[in-house]
Amino acid sequence: MKNSSLSDSEKELIEKTRELFDADQFNGEVRGKAIMSLYNAFPLEHAKSKIIGVLQTDSLNVEQWYNINDLRLVYFYIREAYGETTLGRVGFDIINSGVFPEEIRDARDAVLAVAPAFYMNVRGENIGDVEVTFEDEKQIRMKFTTPFPCSFETGILKGSAHKFGEVVLIEHASDCCRNKGDDHCELTIRF
Ligand SMILES: [Zn+2]
Repeated sequence: MKNSSLSDSEKELIEKTRELFDADQFNGEVRGKAIMSLYNAFPLEHAKSKIIGVLQTDSLNVEQWYNINDLRLVYFYIREAYGETTLGRVGFDIINSGVFPEEIRDARDAVLAVAPAFYMNVRGENIGDVEVTFEDEKQIRMKFTTPFPCSFETGILKGSAHKFGEVVLIEHASDCCRNKGDDHCELTIRF
């Protein structure tokens, strides 16, 4: 997985993306293995190397840990360059190609496993949080202060339910959105 040099217009887009938020807001690291899943799920073959380029590394190593702010930039770059739908699909496909632990038996378990999975792949002093509220039997609410855009997490959640043959309805429940520079997004997930 080698770095390809970025064009001037891509560098410009990265700079523009960087200006969307405080580029050093978080303090932590992400497992290379998780980034490799992103790399493999990225649907545009010709643009895969851009992920490595934006990550500002020469190569991707599954054993290594990477700066969470750099990965955050990758996600927001994908959103800027390729759109929300692509980003949602990346999230969906990461889950679709993954394997769930045996104890997870249905869509609800799978959706609830998104939070512990996050903490398995991310470590550090300031990495954000996933807060779960049970609203009723059919609905939960999740508040994300993690470093990633909500369309990615929506894809992850939909993919988790899909793994168990269910379609969930997801709504952005608050006006606050990390896409606008706010510190959180709240999603309701209806089974
Ligand atoms: Zn949002």
